[in-house]
Amino acid sequence: MNGFSKYYQKDQATRLEILKQQKKLTKAELEILKDPQLNFELGDTMIENYLTQYQLPEGLALNYVIDGKEYLIPMVTEEPSVIAAASHGASIVKRSGGFKSELKERLMIGQIVVEQVKDAKKLARLVKDSQAELLQLANAAHPSIVKRGGGAREIKVRILAFDLVSIDLVVDVKEAMGANMLNTMLEACADHLRSKFEAEILISILSNYATRCLVKVTCAIPVSELTKKNMPGEKIAQKIASASRLAKLDPYRATTHNKGIMNGIDAVVIASGNDWRAIEAGAHAYAARNGSYQGLSTWEVKDSKLIGSLELPLPLATVGGSIAIVPLVKVNQRLLDLQDAKELEKIVAAVGLGQNLAALHALVTDGIQKGHMKLQLKSLAIAVGARPEEVAAVVDGLLARQARDSATATQILEEIRGIKREEK
Ligand code: NDP
Repeated sequence: MNGFSKYYQKDQATRLEILKQQKKLTKAELEILKDPQLNFELGDTMIENYLTQYQLPEGLALNYVIDGKEYLIPMVTEEPSVIAAASHGASIVKRSGGFKSELKERLMIGQIVVEQVKDAKKLARLVKDSQAELLQLANAAHPSIVKRGGGAREIKVRILAFDLVSIDLVVDVKEAMGANMLNTMLEACADHLRSKFEAEILISILSNYATRCLVKVTCAIPVSELTKKNMPGEKIAQKIASASRLAKLDPYRATTHNKGIMNGIDAVVIASGNDWRAIEAGAHAYAARNGSYQGLSTWEVKDSKLIGSLELPLPLATVGGSIAIVPLVKVNQRLLDLQDAKELEKIVAAVGLGQNLAALHALVTDGIQKGHMKLQLKSLAIAVGARPEEVAAVVDGLLARQARDSATATQILEEIRGIKREEK
């Protein structure tokens, strides 16, 4: 895409103008990007005891090419350097042909848990025999999803303990995340189980462990693309593969490894108006699927290429929840040029892998601080009271003194302003 070179150096008006040209944004959409206010009525509809709008910055990740299509990706995050890293990781992958994605199915699972079961195997048999009836009941509880081509598809039974059974309903929720429609279906089925089998229902609710909504993204990077001045690409690739192995073996490292992945994933999930707690919960549960908590991504070196892959549950929606309500979310969907929920899931997974690549590339070479520091120092300068026109000078002063603490930042700011510190 043209116009995005040195995008970070441009002012807001120029950045918006470039976007307007590229995405053919309307005047109203540009206004929303300039001033994305929620009015009181909207806020009060969304949550309870509404007071005000909490603000987080939104920026654009660049360089993402996924299955041959190039994307501009809105990301909402308070953390400096996340968007820069996501864009940097993607630029390495872009030079190597971009990300490839795989998405087999997009189904949600909900559970009706029965307790005080006298004969779990018998209950499992009865439920299996009633499968058609239960699916029909579920669909009758939310008929509009059937009209859209979705609806309840399967019933599975899991015996959790001798007296505790989970009856899982698998539903095609089309473009929604499906929590509310699934919960309605589950409660309808639970009523039936209660009256037909005298089942003692413990809970009926969607599961956020969306293992029937898995997305996988991969990339293959010639090791030469990873080269840095102080280290050959082959060595960097091997170290990235070792770091990936480390995150499979050590939960202390795996947690931080995955936090880095979620830096990217959460930021796009929030910008798309989706429920990031649901995505977080599912991702971490999936990271522990083998019995120990492990890194979600895998990096290996094969035939002089660094091969990366990331698989996780990503039940993301393009409708429902706050998506239809928040005007900025609609604009973000336009920026992403989204066709459907599956496409959003691929994008989010790719950002997770791009983010992870950038973090590992930095960690195994210069360390994370070098790239982070300038951006972190900007935040420090603002935190000690620097005005926008003073920030660069405070950052330069901190770099020159190799300091990153607020006392030095304050001292530099006072020096810039010509204020003499009083001796204590
Ligand atoms: P909604 O309750 O908003 O339901 C989705 C809506 O989208 C439906 O009303 C549906 O209309 C409409 N729709 C329009 N077009 C489509 C389409 N193509 N495909 C599917 N639906 C379409 O949202 P969800 O049921 O998705 O639930 C998500 C919300 O639930 C989130 O806000 C989440 O935070 C919250 N939640 C999450 C829980 C969890 O994660 N454990 C638990 C409870 C709530 P129609 O009715 O005509 O079909």
